[in-house]
Amino acid sequence: MGQGRRDTGRGRIAGVTDAERRAALEAIAAEVRGCTRCRLHATRTHAVPGEGDPSTEVLFVGEGPGQNEDLQGRPFVGRAGDLLVKLLGHIGWTRQDVFITNIVKCRPPGNRDPEPDEVAACAPYLQRQLEALDPAVIVTLGRHSMGRFMPGARISQAHGTTRLADPATGARDATVFAMYHPAAALRTPSIERESYEDAALIPRVLTDARERRNRRGLPAEEAPAPAISVAALPAVEADAVADTTDQLTFF
Ligand code: URA
Ligand code: SF4
Repeated sequence: MGQGRRDTGRGRIAGVTDAERRAALEAIAAEVRGCTRCRLHATRTHAVPGEGDPSTEVLFVGEGPGQNEDLQGRPFVGRAGDLLVKLLGHIGWTRQDVFITNIVKCRPPGNRDPEPDEVAACAPYLQRQLEALDPAVIVTLGRHSMGRFMPGARISQAHGTTRLADPATGARDATVFAMYHPAAALRTPSIERESYEDAALIPRVLTDARERRNRRGLPAEEAPAPAISVAALPAVEADAVADTTDQLTFF
């Protein structure tokens, strides 16, 4: 079975075609649109599965839809989305170059924080999106999204830094890069400045992640046990990992 599977040059396993990736993402989106797994379905106008290039190497993960997103069924189409598009533009990218989704796919009423049981109910969709996309880089937007991929980190320390994704998230071999939420940047000029500085690092994070994936390069079933060095990547400080006192609320 491993015969004929080869590295595509992007750290991807040939054998999963772009058409298959697209179909898998569309199937997930259709399920999300009809989902009633948590109470957020009752107050939504539209579920927001996420959108973008099914062949992208980069996935952005926000917190949850706001009012504009709920009305349109699309992620990051309000003011926070306008800033996200500017941050992408800063590095010469557009939203069509990446895939954009959220931790919860339905709007929490009044933009409250999603409850833990809502996050848990929705988690399988993001996991399946990660399995389908197999991104090289996951950019987390805000502390809720960061909490999924960098447990225990605090955003004031972790923004602008990387970690390797736990494959249990669904991401087979991804670098996680933390950023502030654009809504926080809209409220605080210093955070907006830092967000542009962080965004400027993304292309380098991607080339490093590509290199790492190409070095592995083997079909999953033939790859050696993971022995990945993170020495070349800026790491989250160990003391930041243990500190959970920084409970800034950006929503
Ligand atoms: N904020 C988010 O976290 N996600 C969106 O899609 C829009 C605003
Ligand atoms: Fe389903 Fe997620 Fe929407 Fe809850 S938030 S109803 S789990 S899609």
